[in-house]
Amino acid sequence: MLMQNPDITKIVHQHVAMDEFFTGGFTVRDKKTMQQQIDADQSAHDAAVELEKIADEVRKCRKCDLGSTRTNAVPGEGRANARILFIGEGPGADEDAQGRPFVGRAGQLLDKVIAAMGLKRSDVFIANILKCRPPENRDPRPEEIINCLPYLQRQIEIINPEIIVALGAHAARTLLNTNKPIGQLRGQFHEYYAGLARPPIKLMATYHTAYLLRNYSQENRKRVWEDMKKVLAELGLPVPQRGKR
Ligand code: URA
Repeated sequence: MLMQNPDITKIVHQHVAMDEFFTGGFTVRDKKTMQQQIDADQSAHDAAVELEKIADEVRKCRKCDLGSTRTNAVPGEGRANARILFIGEGPGADEDAQGRPFVGRAGQLLDKVIAAMGLKRSDVFIANILKCRPPENRDPRPEEIINCLPYLQRQIEIINPEIIVALGAHAARTLLNTNKPIGQLRGQFHEYYAGLARPPIKLMATYHTAYLLRNYSQENRKRVWEDMKKVLAELGLPVPQRGKR
């Protein structure tokens, strides 16, 4: 899935040279900004390579029984340098069949939430606490979470998002190491620690889209939308107004 690395540095330099040629070199270029862009492109590429290595490990993983009952492992997908990382519970039947996260009905609703935020699925990264489907979509077992979590922890470290959106109780409780109900956790920013040497990442807990589908009330949809508006505001992104979306 990983795009081959074009020589980013070369391409950016070509653009600068072309620009200088057409403007006679009169435009004042902020060389530092250009260098920063080159560095950012390079680190996004490096992150994508590291994420693909983790995905390969996940696809071979047999640390628990789910490794033998799954059709496909679902490592997660999206932008390697995403500002927002959505984290769900674990793959369902559609995800298991395709090896991709959030592609069933709950995924289609998540796509709508992301679109309502003025973003595309390819702008964010989407992952799960469990990388393999529990049979009959039962709840994840503690030992499965313990075995699987290091993959997600490494993904979080590499992506280093500005905000994690934990979808549902399992994701929120696991990442925040708490037993509080989702109703109490949602709607406010918490802190996720990816390691002591790093500043904490802001985590917004909200209802899982599968829960929303089962409880599709105006009130619940409004709650999720309020949570996502806080995420957009925190990132300094425009917050679409009702009726103007
Ligand atoms: N529910 C989840 O928690 N994750 C998926 O990938 C799909 C549905």
